[in-house]
Amino acid sequence: MGDIQKHLERVRAQIAEAAEKSGRQPADVELVAITKTHDAERVREAHEAGQQVFGESRVQEARAKIPELPSNLRWHFVGHLQKNKIRHALPLFELIHSVDSLALAEDINRIAEEEGMHPHVLLEVNVAGEGSKFGFKPETLRAEMETLLALNRLSIEGLMTIPPLAPEAEASRRYFIKLRGLRDALEKEFRIKLPHLSMGMTNDFVIAVEEEATLVRVGTAIFGERRRAKRE
Ligand SMILES: *Cc1c(COP(=O)(O)O)cnc(C)c1O
Repeated sequence: MGDIQKHLERVRAQIAEAAEKSGRQPADVELVAITKTHDAERVREAHEAGQQVFGESRVQEARAKIPELPSNLRWHFVGHLQKNKIRHALPLFELIHSVDSLALAEDINRIAEEEGMHPHVLLEVNVAGEGSKFGFKPETLRAEMETLLALNRLSIEGLMTIPPLAPEAEASRRYFIKLRGLRDALEKEFRIKLPHLSMGMTNDFVIAVEEEATLVRVGTAIFGERRRAKRE
């Protein structure tokens, strides 16, 4: 058995255990294998081990990699999306996790209209309020939600967050709880459904599953260390 297959099986077992522990079904959690910096051959190995959904954080890299792989792989975008990359990104990704401002949402909506598309997106929230991070501040999101919901090309399916880096996985829990609380509040206030919570990476995906993540974004635990740290 190859390393990647072994790692995938371990991650899946950890997800299943965390789901069961918190009274959820393992099938309610989608594992998104983050492939940034890893070449198409490694991705193929993961696909052959049964992995279906993959994530990239740079459009440029994805545009090179995705065509090298079978077309039945499903791709999500998880990085900061630059305005000038939207048109390239839309046909490649079935879900954009990282819509991090109203301006970006409006640009995606306009380009989707021009291209005749209806993209599925999540709104990225900066729950810790870190100055250096992309994402809506919770209070800004509330204030802009009405405008976001009026962008009729976008199907807004939930929220995503990247908590502050911390040595202890447990440190992420309060941010995951905050994201879930914000989701619940938005659903009630705007009478909408936001079924997806994208939260949890290699260090803290078990905690995220316990706190109701529906999408976990895991790279290193599957593919090993990246040669250059790229966290976007
Ligand atoms: C790189 C990346 C991940 C995966 O990180 P790991 O710690 O390697 O699991 C998850 N989410 C986003 C947005 C990323 O950029």
